[in-house]
Amino acid sequence: MINYKDVQKTEQEIASIKCDICGKVYHSDDLEIQEFHHIDFCGGYGSVFGDGTQVNCDICQHCLHKMVGNSCRCSDART
Ligand SMILES: [Zn+2]
Repeated sequence: MINYKDVQKTEQEIASIKCDICGKVYHSDDLEIQEFHHIDFCGGYGSVFGDGTQVNCDICQHCLHKMVGNSCRCSDART
C-alpha cells in the first residue's frame, strides 16, 4: 500500500504570449491567444535548422496568415 502525503505545487498559467515575428504581446484575457501557433520540433538529419537543433517559435494568427495565407488550403473544419 502506498501512502501519499500532501505537497504544495506551484502551477503556472499563461500570463501573456509575445509573437516572435511581429513582437506584439497578447495577454491571457485576449481571445487572440487561443489562435497562436506554436512551433516546437527538433531538426533531423538534413534539416535546414541543423541536425539536432531544437526549434521553437510562437506566431500570432496575423503573422501566420501573412506567411502562408496565400499558400494554405482552408476548409470548414466543423463539417
Ligand atoms: Zn505576429
